[in-house]
Amino acid sequence: MIEIRGLCKHFDDFSALEDIHMTMESGKVYGLIGQSGSGKSTLLRCINGLTGYESGSLKVDGVEVSTLSGLEARRFRRDIGMIFQQFSLLKRLSVYDNVALPMRCWKYSKSEIDKRVTELLELVHIADKRDALPTELSGGQKQRVAIARALTMNPKFLLCDEATSALDPNIAETIMDLLSDINQQLGITMIVVTHQLSILKSSCEQVYLLERGRLVAQGDITSLFSTPPEALRRLMGSQEAVEPTGGGTVLRLLPTRQQAAQPILSRMARELGQDFSVLKADREQYRHGAVTYLIIEVPNGLLPQVRDWLKLRQIAWVTEPGGQTGKE
Ligand code: ADP
Ligand code: MG
Repeated sequence: MIEIRGLCKHFDDFSALEDIHMTMESGKVYGLIGQSGSGKSTLLRCINGLTGYESGSLKVDGVEVSTLSGLEARRFRRDIGMIFQQFSLLKRLSVYDNVALPMRCWKYSKSEIDKRVTELLELVHIADKRDALPTELSGGQKQRVAIARALTMNPKFLLCDEATSALDPNIAETIMDLLSDINQQLGITMIVVTHQLSILKSSCEQVYLLERGRLVAQGDITSLFSTPPEALRRLMGSQEAVEPTGGGTVLRLLPTRQQAAQPILSRMARELGQDFSVLKADREQYRHGAVTYLIIEVPNGLLPQVRDWLKLRQIAWVTEPGGQTGKE
């Protein structure tokens, strides 16, 4: 479990992290998002003890990270695997030797190393490449090797810093699937830093959003993206923004599964005697199920009737930015 209370981290007089509070339970997958420079990597470095912090508390399984030094710090870091966007493999070493490296540093016997590395290469589906050099591998294969290396010492935590950002979207998906399997099979707690929202949605349970070193939003992934708070809308920006075409108000309808199976839009149009433009509709896959949404444009003046109609049928909705009234 990771407990962070009032954490502050400065670089000279620049405040990289300010009053961060987080609680991460064992075995779950957490997403950490935010613009470039918002402090995500710095936070990961604080968690694995690679960088210190000025004030506040950061406890990993009850241990205050800043109090560790020497061998204790090395042992602590052994429990925290890390993977990066740029893979960070040693170019001159084979796949096998890259994965074996941490165990060699800890002076494990040859047979122990051999057993573990063989097992890990199978786990990440790259056993056939054991003698290849990193230059002979694709991006996805390199990241599989990096994942195997991160798991060598049986870590309790795996920190993934933009681990899929350098990969094609479909390869990124397969790597994320692999990480999800590892989380489920091995029960490793994961923190996934990513700017790829589809990756985030399909893999994480809880999300923390940083903005200029501050924690500005957090919560369960499905509810956070169903009714995104202001800061999340800013981050999604052009990625998901929908503009009204006819100057009306943009509403995002969030029907439940049962409601989504009904023709709600045509029913509402018929009963209110009004046509609505659909700006966007989708069914998004989250880790714990799918969410359907329907973004429509409501002519100004008709909003009160539409709200009443939706309320009566208990259909959830939220106004989108760009709409003219957008109050609730
Ligand atoms: P992110 O990973 O969200 O892109 P970082 O954690 O890398 O952001 O950086 C957060 C801020 O801290 C940035 O403004 C960055 O320039 C600054 N920063 C990071 N590391 C250092 C450092 N070693 N020295 C000075 N400033 C740093
Ligand atoms: Mg970063």
